[in-house]
Amino acid sequence: MLLRNGYVLQTDENNIYFERLDIRTKNGEIVELGTRLNQDQKEDMVDLDGDLVLPGMVNSHYHSYTNIIRGTSFGEPLELWSNDTVALGGVLSERDMELSASLGIIEMLKAGVTACVDHIPHLGKASPIAEIYRATGFKAGLAPMLHNIKDSDLLYSMDREVQKSSGPSPFPSTDEYVKFYKDYISEFNNPDGNTRVMVGINSPQRADDELLEASSQLSGDYDLPVHSHLLESRWQRLSADHASSPVERMDRHGLLTHKTSLAHCVWLTASEVDLLAKRGATAITNPTSNHFLGSGIFPARQFLEKGIPITLGSDGVNCGTNHNMLEILRFFLLIERNSNPDHDSWIGLKKGYEMITKNASPILGFSRPAGEIRVNRSADLVVVDRTNLLDILDSSLPAQLIFNTSQLDVKHVLINGRFVMQNRNILGMSEVDIRRELAERKRELEGSMKEALEKASRDKEPFQRTFRSLKEKFNCYDK
Ligand SMILES: [Zn+2]
Repeated sequence: MLLRNGYVLQTDENNIYFERLDIRTKNGEIVELGTRLNQDQKEDMVDLDGDLVLPGMVNSHYHSYTNIIRGTSFGEPLELWSNDTVALGGVLSERDMELSASLGIIEMLKAGVTACVDHIPHLGKASPIAEIYRATGFKAGLAPMLHNIKDSDLLYSMDREVQKSSGPSPFPSTDEYVKFYKDYISEFNNPDGNTRVMVGINSPQRADDELLEASSQLSGDYDLPVHSHLLESRWQRLSADHASSPVERMDRHGLLTHKTSLAHCVWLTASEVDLLAKRGATAITNPTSNHFLGSGIFPARQFLEKGIPITLGSDGVNCGTNHNMLEILRFFLLIERNSNPDHDSWIGLKKGYEMITKNASPILGFSRPAGEIRVNRSADLVVVDRTNLLDILDSSLPAQLIFNTSQLDVKHVLINGRFVMQNRNILGMSEVDIRRELAERKRELEGSMKEALEKASRDKEPFQRTFRSLKEKFNCYDK
């Protein structure tokens, strides 16, 4: 296909800028860039008439089930709030999960996002969710969650409130996890296509050694990227300080490599950051989620100084966020400036933009690299109507996109060289039908969600009491 007359985002060593270019794609990748390229025989041609062309953005950490429960719960820190999200997730049917994933895809495409890492807590619903991505062509790293230790059994000081869990475990056995993963891999792991299976550890503290070892084995045997939450909150740090370093545990099991991406990384020690750098792992910051839950501020400078790649995620949409990765990037960059008085080392436009594009490519682990509009890169392209952008200075466009644009006007999206959105219509699903069905689910979900929240408010009481008793201890972590 030949995309003519685009105003295409390009990079040099230090900057991003736009250039008038034609783009030729073939078999899912960009094969030629130039001016006045000739249309080959039988080649499809689209005239972009000066519209902007951006590399598709990536949401590097996200939970698709949360789209449908947005706005349900707010005003508490992670460990209390988690009771709500777990209970609400528990009442969602398979169809609810499909609708929730579909809504996420619709919103991501409209924000110019072409790929995500979906960290899926509900194993039984992971296949229908994967089918949605497969049917729409949206690129997804699918990371079904592996965990077998409850927060109430691992968080510091919770044992004063709750007896260690006894009786049968609510989690699958390690063998069951491995069997699930093997089936899931054979069905959905398609590095040349649009779904890639990742080993989705919930969090190293929430998995015993046997499960971490099995996770490592799966990653090695099937060449799967590894994805996990890591040290998100003060309480998790305090708990780790009284047990063992989750980073060192991951490393002991061979789970810390250049294929590993770790969400949050707010509370790592200097030696844990060093270990991430040494192993080539990627840190994923989720600034809107961390601020919504009061978890802390990701110390970006520390990671950048060690050369650790950083990417960005929304995290669950019920964590005070949305799918607009440009907005999340803006939020991150603004916070970063105020945490860093040395303006010479503020994160520039190119480095920032790479955090929502190029840096995410290795963590997803697809065969073809993506995130840049260059020859041999995957043709994941977003065409944006520039009517409402001011271009008094052409050089102002990159900064305008990041700092002044609340919502892109996305016209077309191509993923792996195929249109998934054309003339503002999403092709693989009917947005109208999805929205209608979601509205119809209200009647049934309203009651069960209220019940779930009532149950969660009882379940979270011991967490609330312990959290309050630890407030003094948390002070020493503030920075
Ligand atoms: Zn998360």
